[in-house]
Amino acid sequence: MIRITSTPADDNGCAWYHLSQKRAVKPMLTGKVEADWVVVGAGFAGLSAARQLANNFPDDSIVLVEAQEVGFGASGRNSGFLIDLPHDIGAPDYIGDLNTAGMYLKLNRAAQEILKGLVAEFSIDCKMDPIGKYQSAVEQRGLDVLAAYQKGLDRLGTEYHVIEEKDLPERIGTSFYKRALFTPGTILVQPSALVKGLAENLPKNVTLYEHTVITEFDNETHPHKVVLHTANGGVIEAKKLVLTNNAFAAKFGFYTGRLLPIFTYSSMTRVLTEEEGERLGGQRTWGIIPADTFGTTLRRTPDNRLLVRNSFSYNSDGRSKPDLLPKIRQRHRRSFENRFPMLSNTEFEYTWGGALCMSRNGEGVFGQLGKNVYGALCCNGLGTTKGTITGALLADWLAGERNDMIDFLLASPGPSSTPPDPFLTLGVNINLMYSQRRAGIEA
Ligand SMILES: Cc1cc2nc3c(=O)[nH]c(=O)nc-3n(C[C@H](O)[C@H](O)[C@H](O)COP(=O)(O)OP(=O)(O)OC[C@H]3O[C@@H](n4cnc5c(N)ncnc54)[C@H](O)[C@@H]3O)c2cc1C
Repeated sequence: MIRITSTPADDNGCAWYHLSQKRAVKPMLTGKVEADWVVVGAGFAGLSAARQLANNFPDDSIVLVEAQEVGFGASGRNSGFLIDLPHDIGAPDYIGDLNTAGMYLKLNRAAQEILKGLVAEFSIDCKMDPIGKYQSAVEQRGLDVLAAYQKGLDRLGTEYHVIEEKDLPERIGTSFYKRALFTPGTILVQPSALVKGLAENLPKNVTLYEHTVITEFDNETHPHKVVLHTANGGVIEAKKLVLTNNAFAAKFGFYTGRLLPIFTYSSMTRVLTEEEGERLGGQRTWGIIPADTFGTTLRRTPDNRLLVRNSFSYNSDGRSKPDLLPKIRQRHRRSFENRFPMLSNTEFEYTWGGALCMSRNGEGVFGQLGKNVYGALCCNGLGTTKGTITGALLADWLAGERNDMIDFLLASPGPSSTPPDPFLTLGVNINLMYSQRRAGIEA
């Protein structure tokens, strides 16, 4: 029996969650249930895995468990970029090995197709918009990244457009940036609305329990089943367990010390007035990611707000640290005013944080983790697409399917090891501090 020592606790400040449609939350599990499958974690990966298990095993029962509410965790609090292109920060041209990059492109595009199909099938109002993204730079280091990535994209053979400084304001309002690479394949969404919509339209043989925190699990005592206990006295007995709870899988005893919960943060303004919109200029919606990984992500949303995302912290227990939010909000304010001096009176209405699951070598987890336990974990920052496709392919593999994408994921060496604490915490914190400082004005 493994006792889970830390369970999710996100802050209550996420704009996407509060601004998306309220739904009737599914009941907490209190009694005992038996199922063929139990999936833990209802973010992009868990929703996708549960749906595909249901499709592949129509006569099986699938229980999907979420500690918080669907749309409240990381899958509802990200910046809503469903990105198609690979971006390998370890490679000189950010593409690296062409076969590997080509597989990531294929996986990301497959995830986009899955999500597009579900949004259309169930008329999910998540403002899905295939509008592309700008990757923008202001300093020489950032410009060098764009130049290198451009060469990588040439090798990969994917479309991009270089947008020079003078042409950027008519697109994105701000004249802050020196250059951008526009890549048309990214889709923007309201992330919380999307995952709430996916949860509302699960197949009939999936039962979702929300506010149901798994606190203990046992896959050793019984040869053919896994037993899970919940914080409120519920018990789940299932033939197989699928973990889609990102860094929290380490609390279940898998990849301990290798799945790093790194938090990043966003603020969102109130709705711009018409006059503010005119002062800002540019197109009605857009999304910008930074050339420097530690720089700032920006969006102008369909409901005419501006979003700023930057800053990182290492929260080793995977739980939010609300005390950090005021300081980070000030940092967001500086980033905002650098870019939008014409909107210095436009206040932030929301500030929040959320967890990424990072590994030291950028690899994820896919496949069998232990006896009767499987996992699709460790999104390394891009879990909207990666979670969706790895969740679905894990269910396909469990149904006996093999294809090039499954083989590619199974061949991953998995997350590499890290030094033990206190060296790990110290190392990660120093790394984050140094990288954030180095990002300079890009942040
Ligand atoms: C501010 C921010 C911006 C981001 N921007 C982007 C972006 O633009 N594009 C992109 O692709 N990605 C982005 N990300 C990353 C993205 O949000 C994650 O990669 C994605 O949510 C991972 O999905 P997942 O389903 O694997 O995990 P999660 O969304 O983390 O889902 C795991 C779920 O497991 C649940 N859980 C954990 N432990 C237990 C337990 N013991 N019992 C029951 N339930 C449990 C958690 O509550 C959680 O809801 C961003 C993240 C943040 C925080």
